[in-house]
This record gives sequence, C-alpha cells and structure tokens, in this order.
Amino acid sequence: LPELPEVENIALGLRKTILGKRIHRIDIRQPLILKGPHSSRWRRFMANIAGHTLTSVTRRAKRLIMTTDNRMTLLIQLGMTGKFLLRQEKSFRDHDLWQHTHMVMTLSDDVVVLYIDTRRFGRIWLLDGLNPKRPDTAMEAVGLGPLGPEALSINLTAFTRILHAQRPIKALLLDQTRIAGLGNIYADESLFAAGLHPERRCAEINDVQTRRLLQEIKAVLRRAIRAGGTTFSDFRNAYGDMGRFRSRLKVYQREGEACFACGTMIEKIVVIGRGTHFCPKCQPAG
Ligand SMILES: [Zn+2]
Repeated sequence: LPELPEVENIALGLRKTILGKRIHRIDIRQPLILKGPHSSRWRRFMANIAGHTLTSVTRRAKRLIMTTDNRMTLLIQLGMTGKFLLRQEKSFRDHDLWQHTHMVMTLSDDVVVLYIDTRRFGRIWLLDGLNPKRPDTAMEAVGLGPLGPEALSINLTAFTRILHAQRPIKALLLDQTRIAGLGNIYADESLFAAGLHPERRCAEINDVQTRRLLQEIKAVLRRAIRAGGTTFSDFRNAYGDMGRFRSRLKVYQREGEACFACGTMIEKIVVIGRGTHFCPKCQPAG
C-alpha cells in the first residue's frame, strides 16, 4: 500500500505539471470507484468542475486532495494499486493499462491525467467546500474516519501523549487516528532505526527513547520522500518512475538476511495481524 512518502511523491509530481491548469473535462469510465454524497450525481459534479482551474494538490496522511478554484474537491484513496499517469492528449489511449483507467482529466495545454487502478480498491470521493489547508472537517462530514496528527509534523508533546497506552508500539504507529501516514514499511523501518522492539508496550518506552523514535520516524519518512518512495511491484509516481527507497530498507521484507548493523538474522513476526520485521539484537525485547 502506498504510504505517506509515496502519496507525497504523487502529489509533488502532479503539482509540478497540473497546478494552475484549466480542466476541460473529466470522464469517468468506472463510476463504482466514486464515493461521497455527490457520487450518484457525478455527471453534474464533473460538469461543475469543467472550465475551472486546479488550485491545489495536497496530501493528508495517505489521501490525495485536488481542489479547484470553485472549491470542488476530488479526494483520492489509492488503495493497493491506484496511481496517476500524465500523458499528452494525442497519445493517452496508447498505454497498456488503458483497460484499468477509471478516470480521465483533460486539461489545458493538452495535458491528460489518467487515474489507473488494476485491483480497483482505490476510491475517489467527490466533495465540495473543502479547505485544502484544513481538510479534516469536510472529510469527516462525509464519513471518512478521523485522522491523527501528520507523522511528519507531530510535536514531541503530542507524541509523548499518544504513547500513554498499553498496546505494542507497532500497533500504535499503524493507528491512523493517533498518528497519520505510517504504514507497515515505515513503521518497521522507524522502529529499527530507534532500536525498539515492535512489541514493546508504548507505556514502557522512556523519554529518551520517545524522543529518538519521533526523530527517526521523521528522518525515515524524509529520506523515503527524497528517494521517491518505495516500489515493490506497483507504485509509480505521476511520471511513471519507480521509487528508489527499496534498496535502502534495513528490515522490511529482509527476514532471514543479515542485519546491516550487527549481522544478526532479521526476523519476521506477526503484530496485530501484520507481518513485522526486526533485528532481535538491535531491537531487544524488554
Ligand atoms: Zn542488528
């Protein structure tokens, strides 16, 4: 699943190319992916967007938010395999994933934005009145679950507060209502960088470890964003590039291989139903 760094890279790529462009039309080829109160009247919603300009492409946690100058919003949850591809108008039907292309945005300057999703778990929410700087109210109003503070910007006081819990630290890091943006890859990588066992009870983590964990979460996410995210099979940015962070993963999907820091074999366990990778020596259990 795309996590914060992957969605951030998609937003960066789209912003560079489509911001300020006028939308000529939006064609929906698969209405089943649409959600929200406007989804049954999507033709009218899209007609109201046509002729308007894209004023922002932002991200909240793992959600991508595109807003127009008349405050109409497409909010995209990419699911497992959702992605965007930029094309020029003359060639946009030529690519081999055309059958999995569910939305086509035709913009000024012959730019076409395709939304492609082979496994079709992704969803597009049609919203109005969303403020891109404060999107949470509008998202919650249509039934999207509440989100905790962004993992990249949560401060130490707030982070310390959410650690007052008895559950394993890995479970907390995946809980989007407490801290938003981390998924399985970056939770495992952050815990390795901080030297914390994924099953450590949150409340047992002391102040020094808390500070270090927060620093490592942000450092891992920033490095992953700079590397264009992580691609295992499917993730691509809007230009079709793969993420380069996979080669820099220290524990995720490295079970049975030697730890880069100490040579011990990386192990894999299950924590709240999720495969979890760690080094038993660098991340001692208690
Ligand atoms: Zn190690």
